[in-house]
Amino acid sequence: MNTSSSSPHLRCDDVEPGPVRHVRVIGGLSECPGCGLYQRLPDLDPGQQASCVRCGQKLARRRRTAPLATPLAFCISSAAFYLAALASSLMTLDVYGRQRTVDLLTGPMELMHEGWGEAGVLVGAVTILAPAIAIGFMFAILYAASCRQLPDWAPRVLVWYDKLRPWSMVEVYILGIFVAYTKLTDMAHVDVGPAVYLIGALMLTMAATDSTLDTEMIWRHRRIDSLTRAEGDQAVEVDYVHVDDVGMPPVDHLVACTSCGLVGELAHPVSNLTCVGICPRCEHKVWRRLPQSLTRTTAFLIAAIVFYIPANLYPVMTFMRMGGGGGHTIVEGAIELWMDGMIPLSLLVFFASITVPMLKIASLGWMVWQTWHGARGHLVARTRLFRVVDMVGRWSMIDVFMISILVAVVRFNAMASVTANAGMVAFAAVVVLTLLGAWSFDPRIMWDAAGRNGRVVDGLPPSVLRAQVTRDPGQTTPSPSLSPVGTGPASMEPDQA
Ligand SMILES: [Zn+2]
Ligand SMILES: [Zn+2]
Repeated sequence: MNTSSSSPHLRCDDVEPGPVRHVRVIGGLSECPGCGLYQRLPDLDPGQQASCVRCGQKLARRRRTAPLATPLAFCISSAAFYLAALASSLMTLDVYGRQRTVDLLTGPMELMHEGWGEAGVLVGAVTILAPAIAIGFMFAILYAASCRQLPDWAPRVLVWYDKLRPWSMVEVYILGIFVAYTKLTDMAHVDVGPAVYLIGALMLTMAATDSTLDTEMIWRHRRIDSLTRAEGDQAVEVDYVHVDDVGMPPVDHLVACTSCGLVGELAHPVSNLTCVGICPRCEHKVWRRLPQSLTRTTAFLIAAIVFYIPANLYPVMTFMRMGGGGGHTIVEGAIELWMDGMIPLSLLVFFASITVPMLKIASLGWMVWQTWHGARGHLVARTRLFRVVDMVGRWSMIDVFMISILVAVVRFNAMASVTANAGMVAFAAVVVLTLLGAWSFDPRIMWDAAGRNGRVVDGLPPSVLRAQVTRDPGQTTPSPSLSPVGTGPASMEPDQA
């Protein structure tokens, strides 16, 4: 840890039950972000990953690839593909000899011209702005990781990158283009522009950058030394020990940083409800659980349900051709594709636009309800369902992207035109609200509410729990069964009470 003016410190003014005078950072220990179980994290060899022994959540992995050169190569490619995509055309539509060419920017601009400013800004932000910032942040992170001492600004950029990355929806946009293209080939001649292939390539290189970047390596690169820093009249010392040397501290004295995963031990039990201080490694505020997780998720969920009704009742767009046609809703759009014989595409739209939002609202509602009531059943299933909901939520944007492209390209006055309708804005609101609902939900509180994160975890002292190590990341699915150090899977009480 450095000792400059911006050096990491613990803030003492808002800590319960007494001021923090000393914090011990515990190495070799990890808290599962899925269920809140503290467990030992063994050193990993390249190509290995560690998963939670209770819920199967991935805790850490080590890449086989070169830690800096590989993501840098992909990041440079991403930047090149991104700039080329911005400068080239997306699609050219030919209706009876009249042509119209659009690029990436046309869709958001046309939505704004038509008076759907919120939707235009949203589409522009997640398809143009967010990828650009993500690529810029990644360059900064890789530069920082190549320095001998990690610069002070680097942890914050890494934290912001993690927050921003899900908003970059290039891969969903590709599917939106595909659905729009299929709808258009039905009525006119469509030429696909180079931007489509460039966005496809950008999707692959951005995914490859993420999968080859070793954030664990970067955090390890930032040393944690003992530090005494006065805040007001308080001095806070931080020292570093390894769990193998000191043994497992009492679980209720432990707190893990939600941004970088650093585990610290305080001299007294830590409340779930108050900010403990500032992380001595990434300078993020440390809370034992995400603040107001349950109430925030409930609020987002209620708002999403309110918007869900107009999103399905009102037309999302109006397709006029030679004086005929009319508005259609999300469901009618999927049915129309089915009637036109495009059954796989119709199923895709049905899944992304109808099943996923319903699944998200119903699942989050079930989790919130169970947590409010302290239910003890189906905890592993609920935690896994949360991971699925978290992963698939962005794909519902397909319809919004498709409409933004159609609105931009089909503008031939009386011959053919597409306009967006109020249903699309309500639908986009449902998608964004359910995303925010999922991101503000802390799945660990389900286990807290069921009383499964106490000093004794499911009949075993937490000191014997160790993360499960498997080979070939992404190909092995570890079965969640609690296993003590040095022995096989333990016989545990079943998950359901
Ligand atoms: Zn877990
Ligand atoms: Zn941290």
